[in-house]
Amino acid sequence: MTFEVLGLTTPLVKAVSDKGYTEPSPIQAQTIPIVLQGKDLMACAQTGTGKTAGFVLPILQLLEAKPSAKNNRTLCLVLTPTRELAAQIHQSILTYGKYLRVNSAVVFGGVKINPQMMRLRGGVDILVATPGRLLDLYQQNAIKFNDISILVLDEADRMLDMGFIHDIKKILALLPKVRQNLLFSATFSNDIRQLAKGLLNHPVEVSVTPEVTTAETVTHKLHMVDKNRKTELLSYLCQRDGWHQALVFTRTKHGANKLVKLLNQVNIHALAIHGNKSQAQRTKALDSFKQGSVKILVATDIAARGIDIDQLPIVVNFDLPNVAEDYVHRIGRTGRAGSSGQAISLVSYDEMKQLRDIERLIRCNIEREIIEGFKPDNTRPVVSSPAPHQQRNRSRNSQQRRERSYEKA
Ligand code: AMP
Repeated sequence: MTFEVLGLTTPLVKAVSDKGYTEPSPIQAQTIPIVLQGKDLMACAQTGTGKTAGFVLPILQLLEAKPSAKNNRTLCLVLTPTRELAAQIHQSILTYGKYLRVNSAVVFGGVKINPQMMRLRGGVDILVATPGRLLDLYQQNAIKFNDISILVLDEADRMLDMGFIHDIKKILALLPKVRQNLLFSATFSNDIRQLAKGLLNHPVEVSVTPEVTTAETVTHKLHMVDKNRKTELLSYLCQRDGWHQALVFTRTKHGANKLVKLLNQVNIHALAIHGNKSQAQRTKALDSFKQGSVKILVATDIAARGIDIDQLPIVVNFDLPNVAEDYVHRIGRTGRAGSSGQAISLVSYDEMKQLRDIERLIRCNIEREIIEGFKPDNTRPVVSSPAPHQQRNRSRNSQQRRERSYEKA
């Protein structure tokens, strides 16, 4: 399927093609025609499914056909729970709308309000906002809602979790009654259905299973390990479990090269693909991997985007990605089309933040297993210098605490 078939105009098709998308994701294939028809929508979709383009593309098209927003007004309001998400959505609007006249702005709390007020003065066609700051701006007369014809509630479940329900209700009461409403949520809980009832008008319901909840076909597991022993653990697992084909992700090109070198030293045939390799080298590496002469293909996230290998049995996160969504992309390479797959992460203490972000995103705790002989040592630095008599107890306590956090981790 192509983006044209969904009814999108040339400037939008060109913008997505510039971005490198070759075909619409399942959520986009469903939502774009519905939004273009002006219908209300209730979509069950998580981050990582391409949902943002699923509403941004058709909204841009609808607004391009209308006169621009007047001073201090907006035509489309997108409400999101966090400033990060707001900024991401705004970036998507800029990217997909680069060949259009439609303009946009983003407002969120935690930063000065004055520049945002100035920005709204001339009117913005699409306004992306977090609820609290939007109400502040409204109360200060910086924005009027009279001309809003489209409302998007993105990550509605998270907004409820974060206690935004009162702000949302206040905002809804201020909007014009006749408008198109789009609600996106990762779950359709009772609370969400309740919210939807008072908001949506004969909505079309769509639902997509994100790649990551191939949970039934992919087993996620993580092994806590010291950073400097990751290669050793990887080769141990490869040999112990007789891996014949595993795609291993590293964060950097340098890390990929280093890992390949070390694996080859212990007779595990590995090759790397990343941005510094020529197309010919990448194709050759991929072919050898597919044919089985190379057991381990080490890749960086960017290089792995285009890889399509049927029924990849094992994906390993040698390093956790900095961006949680990349975990979803990485894992999407195994357990495809109903085949079973394993997603294994080797996690060192310094990666706990990334781990927490990933688990929050995929909404589940990954099963932990410490491999015998690879229990991590405690290397976390002691911050203060307690008196000698306190030191023993304190270090024992902190040792216990750390161990507990490893076990939980
Ligand atoms: P989202 O679920 O909207 O956060 O999107 C997840 C990621 O998928 C983003 O990095 C998008 O740039 C990317 N993406 C969105 N649509 C497509 C598509 N049709 N083809 C490939 N990548 C896409």
